[in-house]
Amino acid sequence: MQDQIEKLPRLAKDKHNENKSFFKKLKKKPPKQLDYLMQELHVDEFERTDCLECANCCKTTGPLFTDKDIQRISKHFKLKEQKFIETYLKIDEENDYVLQSVPCIFLGADNYCSIYEVRPKACREFPHTDRKKFHQISNLTLKNVAICPAAYNIVEEMKKRIKI
Ligand code: SF4
Ligand code: SF4
Repeated sequence: MQDQIEKLPRLAKDKHNENKSFFKKLKKKPPKQLDYLMQELHVDEFERTDCLECANCCKTTGPLFTDKDIQRISKHFKLKEQKFIETYLKIDEENDYVLQSVPCIFLGADNYCSIYEVRPKACREFPHTDRKKFHQISNLTLKNVAICPAAYNIVEEMKKRIKI
């Protein structure tokens, strides 16, 4: 897995133009069964991929924290929300709350998330490959294939399965 993670930025860069053109066509004419296909590809890929052997998302990019995330996680730590924000978060250029630094401070050396039960929504949903209307998040996906080996494989499989 480590080998694949190290090669991923290069592989993603090589595929960038091909992926961009694929998603452009997909947006114009998304197949009727796209949601079902994405569900299938996502489930199949995550049967093969063990996130505990990877954790590259937690190591290299952090989630954004919604107000609800902040409320829930502060409560978990029995901290006032302001204290939680001051201790762990900062505001990014898009005005979202994000981690002060990566790797994520809540990631353990064993790749387990120490706040798994209350983790941010963005962490629960990453890499978003099972969401409905997947073609609408193509810009995000183009970035995620350089971070997430599962997302990379899913997009490669999409290109084989959807002829456009
Ligand atoms: S979601 Fe992707 S990047 Fe994150 S741990 Fe799983 S395979 Fe790795
Ligand atoms: S909160 Fe947990 S799942 Fe989210 S980035 Fe940190 S370690 Fe990973």
